[in-house]
Amino acid sequence: MSELVVGVDVDGVLRDFSNSLRRVYHEVYPGHWYNASTAWELHEAFEIGQGIYDFCWRSEYTADIFGKAEHYEGALEMMDELSEVANVTIVTSQPSVGARRATIEWLDRCELLGVSGGVFLEGTLKRWHLPLDCLLDDNEKNLEAAHRYGIRAVCMDRPWNQNWTNYRVKTYDSFMEFVEGI
Ligand SMILES: [Mg+2]
Repeated sequence: MSELVVGVDVDGVLRDFSNSLRRVYHEVYPGHWYNASTAWELHEAFEIGQGIYDFCWRSEYTADIFGKAEHYEGALEMMDELSEVANVTIVTSQPSVGARRATIEWLDRCELLGVSGGVFLEGTLKRWHLPLDCLLDDNEKNLEAAHRYGIRAVCMDRPWNQNWTNYRVKTYDSFMEFVEGI
């Protein structure tokens, strides 16, 4: 096993909950408008506005939205490959018990619970406190913090993180090349 320790974020990196959110939202509010928004701010994409955050993370729909979300194409294959060359820790911040439960179920369904470094659910300790050599994330704030802590912070290219100017990859293959070059 390599000594290299790599953290991988969940939402926006492995899991794509946009379709499951739109599906559940439409079922609950069939008359509402919503956009296939590429913005980080979900409240701008759904007629319910700020209520979208509780709808997502703290409602009876949380399990459906996150537990049944899709993975990005190629994500699971990348995790297999990555596990061959690094000690992998899945890192995720889930703001409610329901979201944590749904996320564990989702990881289990994707057969990702057995990764070498396990799963780190953020609480008081954050992902940048972990002894990571490298972090793959889509959230600019996480990337900035990880970078400050001396972690190679690699941005998974998404429409909502175009302000990040440091390491960026557009594909999982590119990330694997990055890791293999460390
Ligand atoms: Mg994320």
